[in-house]
Amino acid sequence: MTDCLFCKIGRKEIPSKLVHEDPDIFAFEDIQPQAPVHILLCPRKHLISLTDASAEDAAMLGKLQLIAAQIAKERKLTDGYRTVFNNGGRAGQSVFHLHLHLLGGRDFRWPPG
Ligand code: AMP
Ligand code: ZN
Repeated sequence: MTDCLFCKIGRKEIPSKLVHEDPDIFAFEDIQPQAPVHILLCPRKHLISLTDASAEDAAMLGKLQLIAAQIAKERKLTDGYRTVFNNGGRAGQSVFHLHLHLLGGRDFRWPPG
């Protein structure tokens, strides 16, 4: 999508600290980290949120989680980490290109705020 912040980051039209790239997925450091490790993983395909996803996106959604786990291992988050999709404004979504947050390096509370 032309006018989407994360599509532009994926095309390198806007700079970011990329930590992973493959034909389906790119991942980069969050600009306002909420934990010592805070990485966003996005599909190259523009989807607004999980609500916009369908059966054909199943492999990509699984791959997002598996790459998050791989990055968590690389960052030595052996004590735990959290992966989160915020879906819709009420859940705190502010950028409307589907993305998985990978957060780690501190304790997290449950239930989340
Ligand atoms: P959400 O609120 O779930 O939609 O998450 C959007 C995330 O994108 C927030 O954590 C922001 O800090 C992050 N963000 C916004 N703009 C940028 C940017 N240019 N580069 C990296 N992260 C960004
Ligand atoms: Zn997009």
